[in-house]
Amino acid sequence: MKREKIIVIDFGGQYNQLVARRVRECNVYCEIYSYRTDLQKIREMNPKGIILTGGPNSCYEEGAATCDKELFELGIPVLGLCYGAQLMTQVLGGKVSKAPVREYGKIEVTVDPTCKLFSDVPEKTICWMSHNDYIETIAPGFTRVAWTDHCPVAAALNSEKNLYLIQFHPEVLHTVEGTRMISNFVYHVCNCAGDWKMDAFVENSVQALREKVGGGRVLCALSGGVDSSVAAVLLSKAVGDQLTCVFVDHGLLRKNEGDEVEAVFGPEGNYDLNFIRVNAQERFYQKLAGVSEPERKRKIIGEEFIRVFEEEAKKIGAVDFLVQGTIYPDVVESGLGGESAVIKSHHNVGGLPDYVDFKEIIEPLRDLFKDEVRKVGLELGIPGNLVYRQPFPGPGLGIRIIGEVTAEKVRIVQDADAIYREEIAKAGLDKEINQYFAALTNMRSVGVMGDERTYDYAVALRAVKTIDFMTAEAAEIPYDVLTRVMNRIINEVRGVNRVLYDVSSKPPGTIEFE
Ligand code: GLN
Repeated sequence: MKREKIIVIDFGGQYNQLVARRVRECNVYCEIYSYRTDLQKIREMNPKGIILTGGPNSCYEEGAATCDKELFELGIPVLGLCYGAQLMTQVLGGKVSKAPVREYGKIEVTVDPTCKLFSDVPEKTICWMSHNDYIETIAPGFTRVAWTDHCPVAAALNSEKNLYLIQFHPEVLHTVEGTRMISNFVYHVCNCAGDWKMDAFVENSVQALREKVGGGRVLCALSGGVDSSVAAVLLSKAVGDQLTCVFVDHGLLRKNEGDEVEAVFGPEGNYDLNFIRVNAQERFYQKLAGVSEPERKRKIIGEEFIRVFEEEAKKIGAVDFLVQGTIYPDVVESGLGGESAVIKSHHNVGGLPDYVDFKEIIEPLRDLFKDEVRKVGLELGIPGNLVYRQPFPGPGLGIRIIGEVTAEKVRIVQDADAIYREEIAKAGLDKEINQYFAALTNMRSVGVMGDERTYDYAVALRAVKTIDFMTAEAAEIPYDVLTRVMNRIINEVRGVNRVLYDVSSKPPGTIEFE
C-alpha cells in the first residue's frame, strides 16, 4: 500500500521542520523538499497536499525563491504560509509589496469561521506574525477569509482550486489554534485518512528490516544516545543476535552513563544482542593530553572513536550491514531534504567508517523527528531515563571542559553535573528546562574553606529554554535552587570553590559551553 503524504516545500523559512512536525502530529506522514525540486518529481510523489513555507526573501525582488505556476494546477491542494502565501499570490496574478506596517509577534486575527481552514476556530484568535511584506491585492479567483488591524489579507482561498494561503505562522505554537488549522487543512481540504501512527512504524519496520537483512550480519555503533539506542533495539527486535553492538566508552560520558548503557544493552540487560563495551578512557585522555583548542579536541575525539570502532569491527570480521541512527533533521540539515544550507556532520558513529567491510548502511530512523524517535523508543520498552535524555554532544564532556582535558577534570565535571541534574529534577524543573548541565571553566581562583586557603576551579552551570535549539534563553532558575546546587557542589566535589550561573542567551552564546 502506498503511504499517503503531505509535502512541505521549503523556501528557507525558519520553521520549516515545525510545519512537517505539525502535520505528522495529525498522523499524516510528511516530507520536506527544497523549492528547487522538479515539478515532475512532485507530481510522481502524488502527495495528498502541498504546503509552502515561509522564507526570508521578498517575492517581488530579483532572484527571490520562486515556484512554477503549474504547481497550482496539479489538482493537489496547496497551502501557502507567509512567504508561501505571498508567492502564491504573486504567481497567480495578485500583488505583494512592502507592508506599510510590519507585524511581528502575537497579533489578534479575525477569521471567517465558515472557511474550512478555520472550522472550530473562534472568530478572534491570537496568531504569530513575522513579515515585512504583505498581500496588497489578492489574486483573481481568491476570497479573503482573515485579516488584522494592519494586515488586510491574513488568509485567503480559492475553494474551486483548493488553494489556501495564510500570512501568519500556524506551525508556531504561539498561534493558539495553529495545530487545528493545519489539521483542518490536512483532513478537510486534503481528505487525508491519518494512518501515520508510531505503532504501525515499529511493526512495519521490523518486518521490512527482516526482509532486508535476511540471514546477514549487522553491526551498530552504540553511543548510548537516544537515536543509536532506538536504532539498535529496533534492529535487535528484527534480527536478534545477528546484531552486534559496539559501545565505545570514551571516558567523556556523564556520571555512570557507561554503566547505565551496559545495564540496558549488555548481557544482564533486556535485549538479546551481542554487546561489546570498549573501555577506552585512558586512550582518549592520552590523546587529549595538552590539547586545549576546542575544534582540535572535537577532531581528536571523533577520530579516536573511529579508530576504536574500527579495531573492534576488524575482530568481528566482515559484516553485511552497518546501522546508523540518522534521524530526519539530520537528513534535512545535511542539505538532502530542504533548503537549509548547513552541512552538519551528525553521525552517531562520529563519521562514516569506510574501512569497515560492510555492504550496505541501514538507517531505520531517517524518516523520523526526535520526538517520534522517542515514542518508538518507549514502545520498544527502552527505559524512560534513556529515551528522554537531553541532547549530548558526541565529543561529550570533552568540550564541556574548557582547556585541557584530564581524568581529574572529568571527575569534577561529572560529579558537579550529577548533583545539578539531581537538584533540578528534585525541584520539578526538569520538564520545563530544555537543556541543562555543568561545565568546567578553566579558571582557578583563591577561596577559603575550613579556614584554609584554596586555589580551585569554578564550575559553570548552564540551563536554557528553547523550542528548536536554534535560539535559546537562559532559564530563570529560582535562587534557592541555585544556592542549593552551589552548596552541594562546593561541599561534595573536591577541587571546586566557586559556582557560576551562565545567563547568556543564544545568540550570541551557544547552548554548549565549549
Ligand atoms: N520575507 C517575507 C516577509 O518579510 C516573508 C517572511 C516569512 O515568511 N516569515 O514578509
